[in-house]
Amino acid sequence: MSEDRLAEPLRKVLGTRTAGALEKLGLVTAGDLLRHYPRRYVEPGRMSDLASLVVGEHVAVMARVQQATVRDMRSRGGAMLQAKVTDGVRSLHLTFFARHRGSLRPHEDRLRPGRLGMFTGTVGEYRGELQLTHPEYQLVGVDADDEATVMLEASRPVPVYPASAAIPTWRIQRAVRTVLDPLDPADVPDPLPDEVRERRGLVDLHTALRLVHEPFSERDWQRARRRLRYEEAFVLQAALARRRAITAALGAVARPGASDGAPGLLAAFDERLPFTLTEGQRTVGEQIAHDLAQAVPMQRLLQGEVGSGKTVVALRAMLQVVDSGGQAALLAPTEVLAAQHVRTLRALLGPLAEAGMLTQAEAATRVVLLTGSQGATERREALLDAASGRAGIVVGTHALLGDKVQFADLGLVVVDEQHRFGVEQRDALRTRSGTTPHLLVMTATPIPRTVAMTVFGDLETSTLAQVPAERAGVTTHVVPADNATWVGRTWRRVREEVDAGRRAYVVCPRITSDDTTGVEGTDDADLLAGEGEGARPLHAVLDVAERLRADPALAGVEVGVLHGRMPAAEKDAAMARFADGRAPVLVSTTVIEVGVDVPEATVMVVLDAERFGLSQLHQLRGRVGRGRDPGLCLLLSSAEDGTDAATRLRTLAETSDGFRLATVDVQLRREGDVLGSSQSGGTSLRLLRVVDHAEVIEEARQDAVDVVGEDVTLLTRPVLARAIEAWLDPRREEFLDRT
Ligand code: ADP
Ligand code: MG
Repeated sequence: MSEDRLAEPLRKVLGTRTAGALEKLGLVTAGDLLRHYPRRYVEPGRMSDLASLVVGEHVAVMARVQQATVRDMRSRGGAMLQAKVTDGVRSLHLTFFARHRGSLRPHEDRLRPGRLGMFTGTVGEYRGELQLTHPEYQLVGVDADDEATVMLEASRPVPVYPASAAIPTWRIQRAVRTVLDPLDPADVPDPLPDEVRERRGLVDLHTALRLVHEPFSERDWQRARRRLRYEEAFVLQAALARRRAITAALGAVARPGASDGAPGLLAAFDERLPFTLTEGQRTVGEQIAHDLAQAVPMQRLLQGEVGSGKTVVALRAMLQVVDSGGQAALLAPTEVLAAQHVRTLRALLGPLAEAGMLTQAEAATRVVLLTGSQGATERREALLDAASGRAGIVVGTHALLGDKVQFADLGLVVVDEQHRFGVEQRDALRTRSGTTPHLLVMTATPIPRTVAMTVFGDLETSTLAQVPAERAGVTTHVVPADNATWVGRTWRRVREEVDAGRRAYVVCPRITSDDTTGVEGTDDADLLAGEGEGARPLHAVLDVAERLRADPALAGVEVGVLHGRMPAAEKDAAMARFADGRAPVLVSTTVIEVGVDVPEATVMVVLDAERFGLSQLHQLRGRVGRGRDPGLCLLLSSAEDGTDAATRLRTLAETSDGFRLATVDVQLRREGDVLGSSQSGGTSLRLLRVVDHAEVIEEARQDAVDVVGEDVTLLTRPVLARAIEAWLDPRREEFLDRT
């Protein structure tokens, strides 16, 4: 069969030496090699004659070899080949250097006096004579039959491959030609359907491979790249579209809400809302309400800036499901956040959440908390409420995914702050009940649209752009950690805010100074590696709290601590003392990163700020300035000027636009970090950049949805199906599973 040609091991097609060297680059089959695209192209030299050479210019000249001699270089060691070429009147020197005489042998053999050739290189000057050092060259009668062909070859862009010490780029080029030249279009089946290619004006795969590896002009390789890049986007989007379609085919219970005329929780809730929904909350709410009423599982990503009011949107969705006789589960990444959600939901619902109590409203339900560190009695009761269906809303951490947790009729899963949850966990929850629940994923980490379409491509996306109410906003400053005056000023500033009745967070990367991992389950930061030598010890919550208690600037102020290793009850107590102002300074890990809502908090001091990611810092500072008083975020940093870390912090200080920050974040990190480590060594995204190629991704998504819509099985598209499978090999499964 024809595709066998691409599966052929290079060892069969090329010499073992070349094949062995290519294997070190991860290239094993003919197909691998053909997908190893040139990194860039060297433009051909300007056709010139020996009379008009200008030093520094990249030229191509037709000339005849006069002489070539190899000699050892006594002073520098190594060997050197000097040749002289002429047009009959003037002459030009060619120089090649090598460590050993033997390495110059191939040139010596080829550059025989009398041979005519085209020589390409940059004109240099040595002792008053013009010369080309290490020119590329094509010889008439050796590399090509006639002068015209040689001139044509010399005018082509020269591909430059990602190479290694084991194999230089020109040997890769030669290997590619050996593999590519004998192939017919039929040997290179194209995963892009013809109609898609036609619609987008793209060349077929066989042509693209020829043009990318053996272009005659810049236009050639540009066309090839455009097509190959499109293919990457298309195959990925087709994989995601198929995943969406397969989940949709699973079916779900439609949850249209209370039937007309019947008293419903949602209607009662809307009645008692103390504010009006923002335009965005209403629009997104309608989308979700519509999704929930379908018999296919909703798969929606709701993204919205910190403070954009996602909780209310989620709660209204949950109430619609409860009104339809089902239950909703809300998953939070930390116990602190889960506990806070329960408090918030109960406060928002008031008597509507008091089923079973005297105060209950007509259509009341129950909101229960289920966490790993709950007391046995409390937990047993919560489990019972979930299993019996008495609790309409169950809030918890991943303890919700434990085997013992049963729901009477789980209709909706809401995952808050998605980035801490993997898909396996969500799937575990889905299989917890007989049918597939609807799914709403919420994230406050702003994601550029195309990243969302790529990384979360199997979810429909809704965005809350506005932030409700007047929020005073946050001013951010970077404070050099080695400037004692500024640091002293920082703590006095904290004191001023406390004296004015407000609160301050102090965030540290570690819990204790001997804590070398800095990781505390899901509650702590994923720290960035330190830049530079001799990493300093990082600030630790317990040490910093002790120091601040002893700091005269904070005399008489109670300093609390909060971190993920504290028992749940202690965490709750610490949060409560902070919230009501008894302990107005809270030293903590990033456990407070997501969702914590204390309107009086106005200052956030982040220690070792350079060790946190941009999105994470943006999240953190979203904790202050939530009320009427303006927030202040002070980033203590010892990042050297000019480092990526310093750039990150400066960007953060300059902009409060989360979407813009996310884009910068993606650009500062390498693509592989964005799409997951599985991408770094894979064969998938070579030309596609999720930030730069938004339009390509949009178009590819439309096409992919069309193609998959026609035939989900892809039985009629075997080449595409195989390309998707290549995507879904174990390394890449991980990538899709991030959604
Ligand atoms: P996030 O999107 O960060 O989760 P929250 O849901 O915690 O934001 O909402 C932030 C604050 O804004 C909460 O105190 C919430 O009660 C309030 N809020 C939500 N929607 C509105 C609205 N339409 N008008 C006024 N305040 C609102
Ligand atoms: Mg939230």
